[in-house]
Amino acid sequence: MKEVRSTCPYCGVGCGVIIESQGERITGVRGDPEHPANFGRLCSKGSTLHLTASAEVVRQTRLLQPMRRLQRGAAPQPLPWDDALQLAADRFAGTIARHGPDAVGFYVSGQLLTEDYYVFNKLAKGLVGSNNIDTNSRLCMSSAVAGYKLTLGADAPPACYDDVNHAGCLFIAGSNAAWAHPVLFRRIEQAKAANPAMRIVLVDPRRTDTAELADLHLPVQPGTDVMLFNGLLHLMLWEGWTDTSWIATHTTGFEALRATVRDCTPQRVSQVCGVPQDDLLTAARWFATGASGEPQHRAGTLSLYCQGLNQSTSGTDKNAALINLHLACGQIGKPGAGPFSLTGQPNAMGGREVGGLANLLSAHRDLANPQHRAEVAALWGVPSVPDQPGKTAVELFQAAADGEVKALWIACTNPAQSLPDQATVRRALERAEFVVVQEAFATPASCDFADLLLPASTWGEKTGTVTNSERRISRVRAAVPPPGQARHDWRIVVDFARRLEALLPPPPGGRSKTLFPYEDPEAIWNEHRESTRGRDLDITGLSYALLDNPGPQQWPMPQGAPAGKARLYEDGVFPTPDGRARFADVAWRPVAEPRESRYPFSLTTGRLRDQWHGMSRSGTVARLFGHVPEPVVQLHPQDMHRRGLAEGDLVHVTSKRGSIVVPVQASRELGLGQAFMAMHWGGEYLGGSSSTGARLAGVNALTTSAFCPTSKQPELKHAAVKILKA
Ligand code: SF4
Repeated sequence: MKEVRSTCPYCGVGCGVIIESQGERITGVRGDPEHPANFGRLCSKGSTLHLTASAEVVRQTRLLQPMRRLQRGAAPQPLPWDDALQLAADRFAGTIARHGPDAVGFYVSGQLLTEDYYVFNKLAKGLVGSNNIDTNSRLCMSSAVAGYKLTLGADAPPACYDDVNHAGCLFIAGSNAAWAHPVLFRRIEQAKAANPAMRIVLVDPRRTDTAELADLHLPVQPGTDVMLFNGLLHLMLWEGWTDTSWIATHTTGFEALRATVRDCTPQRVSQVCGVPQDDLLTAARWFATGASGEPQHRAGTLSLYCQGLNQSTSGTDKNAALINLHLACGQIGKPGAGPFSLTGQPNAMGGREVGGLANLLSAHRDLANPQHRAEVAALWGVPSVPDQPGKTAVELFQAAADGEVKALWIACTNPAQSLPDQATVRRALERAEFVVVQEAFATPASCDFADLLLPASTWGEKTGTVTNSERRISRVRAAVPPPGQARHDWRIVVDFARRLEALLPPPPGGRSKTLFPYEDPEAIWNEHRESTRGRDLDITGLSYALLDNPGPQQWPMPQGAPAGKARLYEDGVFPTPDGRARFADVAWRPVAEPRESRYPFSLTTGRLRDQWHGMSRSGTVARLFGHVPEPVVQLHPQDMHRRGLAEGDLVHVTSKRGSIVVPVQASRELGLGQAFMAMHWGGEYLGGSSSTGARLAGVNALTTSAFCPTSKQPELKHAAVKILKA
């Protein structure tokens, strides 16, 4: 038996795992006791990873050879790798020649490794000459990115997991950490047990399992977080709980915000958010003082937040309004304090680091900055990188539906289930002239739309790095070879890019060598490392060898640094032009689609404890269905009673965009007028298929593609729906 240290491929906690294998089969998995993200713990998903790699699961679920569809709806036929890559290069080169580089687009994933992400980004921006590359991280963390940059000056979560042990107050907003980040939640439970005086506040429309540990639950109406946070600041100012000297020394912009929150009186906030005024006062006192109750002896307040803030048409404002509270009370840059976004995916952070989004460039550089574009062009040895922002996730598929984007390359993600407004997404996939799906699994609905399917390796088979929520870079290692003809994602991209280089016109002055000389992931990572020199995420002091021993490190770790940095901004200096953090003057706006008489329910979506994304991996483990066996829509019992619905009745859940049929279930976690559905189930679990043979959409048949104007993150957390007995 062989043992290999690696990282869990599910959530952003980034737990270390030890993979046990015999020959070419993974036989077991356990938590890595030496990994600082989990110290040996795993949740139900991580501890069953080996079951997702059994011979039977591989045979039933994996893509094992390149496949081509001669026409849509037909069964795909195998073809050799060389032919598949050449076909892809010919089709992409042809589209670029006829319609220009922005007629192609790449849609990638926060589940790719950093090395995979890096070469995809270089392919689009360095070779093709288009910024049309975006990722499912747009659905996950782009509001957190925008919120950090707006207020603190850089996309850098300033806190770390250990801060949980130093906080006097934990302020959890828009996160069901008990289910979505279970191993981190175990730390929170332990910290609370060790320090019962620590106060936990939960902001969430639903009374989730996380609420069971909270001392105070604020069941806000969906989408009202900015009003709540501004109302808390109003109270802090009224009570004299802000840190005026810290504000004066380390920030700018407070006066404008002070004027904005003047109207956010407890009465108004209580009315808009649906939270009692006494609870607002308690939350404000605990947040401002770290639950010490005394501003002159502040303990730390750590906020933990996730998709409830991010997946919103005011996602950036929600993030910024929460960070405003930290700045107003000096609750940042010290143990147990700071705003801490929890990443949904295992490597959403790595994607941000390499600039693998439509508006970013390598190493947290900005596409809009000419100096940054010149630096990246010099690093890559190309004359320039394109200056026009690319299309973000929703925009990219809208452009394909409109016929503007004609060739799509989808890697390691399933837009035919996970993007909002599935009717538009499916129209896009049907209208696109050429769709490549690079995937480990044959089961995602997006495979139904592919002209070309490229089999990729996955967890347990591939090598590289990921970065978790606390900026910690860990190695991912292969225990077994990929099955069948599956290849590593970076290898597929490099082999395609070299073929495309030969077909595209060379830049002025010619191309003396390939832009993609890599023969292993370490060579890619070393180039990425060099791109970070002098940047906020500088990792020039790191190497694959150092990540092996002493082990995972938090960035930054510049050349000469003995270790990574646990906590940022301890000196009170921020990465802004004047070194000061910036208050964001933000005001509450309602959700994009308020409920109304014809659509009287607020539908929110979210994760279950034991499933992951579209279930292509977790759905292969029978025992993970023991927690929740089937898709349901949850309603408050009184709402069910009023509509004459009984537990288990089938109902039509209908929004302005689509309709699905599911059983109804009573839940007292919800408020009146609210509905909840898990995000994981696609159409195959809801029955039927479309006229083209593609499987039907799941809950995202209902959701809206309206997005935050700054972060472009869509409002997956709210849609107005009606619910009628089927
Ligand atoms: Fe994996 Fe997240 Fe569970 Fe850790 S908490 S084992 S990273 S799913």
